[in-house]
Formats: sequence, structure tokens, C-alpha cells
Amino acid sequence: MIIVVRPDSTHEQIDHILDRIQELGYKPHISRGELRTIIGVIGDENKLQAEPLAAIPGVEQVLPILKAFKLASREFHAADSVVEIPVPGRAPVRVGGGYMAMIAGPCAVESAEILDDIAGKVKAAGANILRGGAFKPRTSPYSFQGLGEAGLKILQEAGRKHGLPVVTEVMDPRQVEMVYRHADMFQIGARNMQNFDLLREVGQARKPVLLKRGLSATVKDLLMSAEYILSEGNHQVVLCERGVRSFEESTRNMFDLSAIPNVKGQSHLPIIADPSHATGRPDLIPAMARAAVAAGADGVHIEVHSCPEKALSDGPQALLPDQYASLVGDLRRLAEVVGKYIF
Ligand code: PEP
Ligand code: MN
Repeated sequence: MIIVVRPDSTHEQIDHILDRIQELGYKPHISRGELRTIIGVIGDENKLQAEPLAAIPGVEQVLPILKAFKLASREFHAADSVVEIPVPGRAPVRVGGGYMAMIAGPCAVESAEILDDIAGKVKAAGANILRGGAFKPRTSPYSFQGLGEAGLKILQEAGRKHGLPVVTEVMDPRQVEMVYRHADMFQIGARNMQNFDLLREVGQARKPVLLKRGLSATVKDLLMSAEYILSEGNHQVVLCERGVRSFEESTRNMFDLSAIPNVKGQSHLPIIADPSHATGRPDLIPAMARAAVAAGADGVHIEVHSCPEKALSDGPQALLPDQYASLVGDLRRLAEVVGKYIF
């Protein structure tokens, strides 16, 4: 259910509405729009009665949310959400509502020297968030699994040095506390999109989350997974389209471009595109990144390596720093056309 609050309601009335919702055993989630304040009442809908809620002073209307995802829906929050990623000592990087995330970096953190080099180059090219995996979900148990906490420290250090917030994957609820200490944004990878314990755990942490679409997840599945995070009180979620499994063998995955406007129509959450994992091919990445921005994406997530042939993970899909810089130039021009900003 959503409660539409009367425009002339007082702070005391709103506090009283929130208290009443809690007394009834539900969780209130407040969405303050420019014109309206809306309160989401989340819990077992079958037992929820609209009439007692409608009688609380300050309540204008009580409406059901028809979608299975509630807090992620446009009904709960009509305007585009803007997610803020903190940068120590600087203004936060904003994603959504016209602000574009330019996430770039290697697939995996390999060493301080290599990451420092790549971070400097992607920053100079226009990236505003640095990525790098310390816990890698590899298909084979014999492949490089990441440097773990040592990798997180290297990533944090490179981010601080180059003035970029850092995003990195967390694979297990037991890692959340450690990743929280070193990263500015959690990444939930495609393979963990429906790891509900992990979603709940990052939902309780007060740090933004980049949630990637699962390998065979529908758009609704993706939004339901976002709902897990939001329902725990963490509303700082950025979605990511990274391709889904298909019968096509010449690309790593099938990039679902329509997912971008499809999600935007149904949800206020920002959505970015990852053409690196979606195609697995450097020759296709720039075109798909441009298409994603033209389709309304709130940013792109691109793997970049200075020496892809020596990369310990996903080398064949990495762009060289120069290729990335040229792509960012294209995206800046496109951003202007679609009324967005890259800072
Ligand atoms: C990654 O970002 O390096 C990654 C493993 O992506 P995905 O979870 O989308 O496969
Ligand atoms: Mn990768």
C-alpha cells in the first residue's frame, strides 16, 4: 500500500502516521517528492486494512501498489531517483536523474602498480567511479579468484589517490562488513542477483549498491531483487543490464538494450549498462555503450586494462585506456543530446 500524505499536513502528523504504521507491525518507507510525500507501507499485504490507515489525520489517500515490486516502483516514487556515492573529501558522485555513472577499471585488482596505472588513465579519460574485483566469481575454481582483503586495500588506496569512489563485488553475506570498510559502493554480481541473504545484508548497510542483472533473470526478477535491498531500508540502488544467456555463440551474452527503457518505465531507480560483460568483445563495446546511452542509460560500466593480454581475468574483453578515452568523448556528446551530464 501507499499512503498519499495531504500537502498541508504537519511534521507531527507525518511522524504520527509513521508511528501508527509501526504499531500495526509494518515498515514505513517515506518518499518525499517535490509536490507530494508518499509513505510506503510494507509487509504482509493480505492482512493490511486500508480503512484504519485512511482515518489517520494527515492521510489523503490509501492506494494499493499493483506491481509485485513496491518500493522500486514508479508508483511509490514518481521522479527518477538520484543515488549518491560518497567521495572522501569531495562532492559525491551522483547517478540517475540526469547524472551519469562512468564506471571503469580492470576486471580484477591484480597489483597496486597495475591498478594505479589504470586508475590514472581512466580518470584522465573521464571515468568518475573506479571498479576492480577483489572477490571474483570465476566459472572455474582453478582460475584466479581475486586478492581478497589485500585487493580491497589496493583498490581503496587507488581510489583515494585518484579522487575516485570505488565499487567492488561482494559475494557472500560474511564479506559485507569487510567490503563496507574499503569500498564506496557494493557490487552484487550477476551470479548472486538472487542470493537473498546477501541482498538483505547489503540492504542493512548504509552504502550504495550496484545490482547486476542475473544471467537468466527477467526484468521483473531484477526489480524484485532490488526490492529486497530497498525493503531493508537501503534505497541507494543502481541497476545494471549486463546481458543475458541466449543461443548466440559469437557474443558472451545477449545485450538486452530494451531492458533500459523497460526498467525506466516501471522503476525510479537508475539503470546503467555493462557492454563489456554483455558482449565480451572490445569491437562491440563502444557501439553498445553508445546505444545504451541513447536508450536512456544512466551510465556505463566498462572494463579497461593497460595490457589486456596479461590480465588475470576477462582480458579479451578489456578496452585499452585510449579506446576508453575515445568512447567517453562519444558518450559526452551523446549525453548532451539526451540531456544528461558526465562529471
Ligand atoms: C564483473 O563485473 O567483473 C562481473 C563478474 O560481472 P557479472 O557479475 O555481470 O558477470
Ligand atoms: Mn569481468
